[in-house]
Amino acid sequence: MTRRWWVAPSEVSDRVLIAGGGIGGLAAALALAQKNIPSLVLEKAHQLGEIGAGIQLGPNAFHCFDRLGVGETARRMAVYIDHLRLMDSLADGEITNIDLGPAFRARYGNPYAVVHRGDLHGVLLKACQAHPLIDLKVSSEVTSYDQDGKTVTAKLANGERLTGTALIGADGLWSNVRRQVVGDGSPRVSGHTTYRSVIPTEQMPEDLRWNAATLWAGPKCHIVHYPLSGWKVFNLVVTYHNHAPEPVAGKPVPVEEVHRGFTHICERAQTIIRHGKDWRMWVLCDRDPVDNWVDGRVALLGDAAHPMLQYMAQGACMAMEDGVCLADSLARTETLESGLKTYRDRRVLRTARVQLMSRAMGDHVCHPDGPHAALRNAIMSAKSQDDWFAALDWLYGGSGLD
Ligand SMILES: Cc1cc2nc3c(=O)[nH]c(=O)nc-3n(C[C@H](O)[C@H](O)[C@H](O)COP(=O)(O)OP(=O)(O)OC[C@H]3O[C@@H](n4cnc5c(N)ncnc54)[C@H](O)[C@@H]3O)c2cc1C
Repeated sequence: MTRRWWVAPSEVSDRVLIAGGGIGGLAAALALAQKNIPSLVLEKAHQLGEIGAGIQLGPNAFHCFDRLGVGETARRMAVYIDHLRLMDSLADGEITNIDLGPAFRARYGNPYAVVHRGDLHGVLLKACQAHPLIDLKVSSEVTSYDQDGKTVTAKLANGERLTGTALIGADGLWSNVRRQVVGDGSPRVSGHTTYRSVIPTEQMPEDLRWNAATLWAGPKCHIVHYPLSGWKVFNLVVTYHNHAPEPVAGKPVPVEEVHRGFTHICERAQTIIRHGKDWRMWVLCDRDPVDNWVDGRVALLGDAAHPMLQYMAQGACMAMEDGVCLADSLARTETLESGLKTYRDRRVLRTARVQLMSRAMGDHVCHPDGPHAALRNAIMSAKSQDDWFAALDWLYGGSGLD
């Protein structure tokens, strides 16, 4: 169907405003540009960037890269791992693995990879900077908005007011736009504390330098590691369910604090942590799924819409899928408002499933103890590769356009 709400961009107010220049906001801008829709990305920080850690990308992320026009560049920056590996960190043995080789790639049409966040953000940023339909503005915190049925005005913390045809809230976990659209208060504090570090590959114990995203599951704690940046470094993400009461993001912590949560697991898994330096901590938050992401000409995207725990490694993948689906829905619609609702309808169930499964992963896969852990091992070790593929079809086979 021909797009009718938009004939040809003529006025500056015809652009879509995007609050947030993270992975979700930049993906949305690129996806809109692919459909000839201009946008202005408003980023709160003084410069655009990402923290220096790693991120896992399922095949669904690569489906998105192609739709965003950055498929080849994105493929060049990735490390292609051979397995997803689940280890028992008390017994020091493998519970199961998923083979990411030729059969996996053939089934999903794309690989599973790990990348440096900065590299991923950089690919999206460069493409945005090079596109004539995308403008980027830093030091621009969106605090609230007004709308009049034809336009939306974003109010910035510095007093500026900027007008567009729509506003997309891609402003993350603590979204100001969500506060006005949904108004459901602060995110839920999970009580799980995650510590991150990146270490040179030569400091990773030699017998653990696997070409895999490995998760060591243990009572109330787990460790994830994988190689990054052409095998120059290993990314370490270690999580401790210590019932932390307050949200924290990126606070530097001494190494002794990190060790405290892992003294009960096997020696081999503990050695991984000993080599970490410059640890930073996050107390993880998420939210229950909601479906009221749209208010007239305003919609939410990425963590602003559906913040999730990281245990399915899908938050950024879902944010990019959102961007692809948003642009596709707007390009097909007769009115902007109905396009935003279509986008919401196409995304709510899929993202809710990942939100809830991520929580369940924490409870039933990452952190169980005793008979609960024995049951996990019995169920998961009995699965064949075909069983795993069948269980993952809904996720990795998707592109955001289902
Ligand atoms: C430990 C950990 C590991 C993870 N691992 C993975 C993984 O392996 N794979 C995966 O896919 N996902 C993973 N995730 C999730 C992923 O990082 C997030 O889901 C993703 O970054 C969300 O992107 P976003 O653009 O929606 O939000 P954000 O990345 O939070 O970006 C929001 C942007 O908006 C800006 N901003 C905030 N407020 C405002 C405002 N009011 N106005 C303007 N700008 C504003 C911020 O400065 C930021 O640049 C992980 C998360 C964590 C915590």
